[in-house]
Amino acid sequence: MESFEKELKKILESRIRDVKDFPKPGILFKDITPLLRDPETLNLTLRMLVKPFLSKNIELVVGLESRGFLFGPGLAMNLHAGFVPIRKPNKLPAKTVSATYQLEYGEDKVEVHADAIIKGNRVVIHDDLIATGGTAAAATELVERLGGEVVGYSFLIELDALGGRKQLKEGAPVETLLKF
Ligand code: AMP
Repeated sequence: MESFEKELKKILESRIRDVKDFPKPGILFKDITPLLRDPETLNLTLRMLVKPFLSKNIELVVGLESRGFLFGPGLAMNLHAGFVPIRKPNKLPAKTVSATYQLEYGEDKVEVHADAIIKGNRVVIHDDLIATGGTAAAATELVERLGGEVVGYSFLIELDALGGRKQLKEGAPVETLLKF
């Protein structure tokens, strides 16, 4: 079982393209578009993302703009949960709450609709990739401010050396398919 899962992960890994110096010098960008383009890996990725959260009574999947919108709704549908987007500033039309977080230089902000999460909702936070963990930590703050319970985190890719998972809610499982 272990080695079967390893084989599947190798197939996914073969569809991640490394792009040097994008979007700026020194960044090795993990491009998931080859994985999305291939029907087999598109399907396999979704099934592997869903598995750890089956029978966990998840009510909402919160996806982070923008690549968290690719698998987020599919993940939600397979868990019989709803989908909530967390967006960059000034994109959501109704009343929002926002959280700021630190970038390498300066800071950034994310927003969610104030009525999107109801007190006690069981939430999974999803994105394509966790690097420093700043974005997912800001998402955690938003979910908790609205009274939601972060039950876990879901990422395709974790950049292990950056230690992003330390920024996340203690005790909530962090499920990642591929580590680099
Ligand atoms: P962070 O807040 O540092 O964990 O950054 C996570 C966000 O930035 C995610 O939405 C990722 O899609 C994006 N990101 C950061 N680093 C990379 C990378 N090396 N390759 C692709 N996306 C990245």
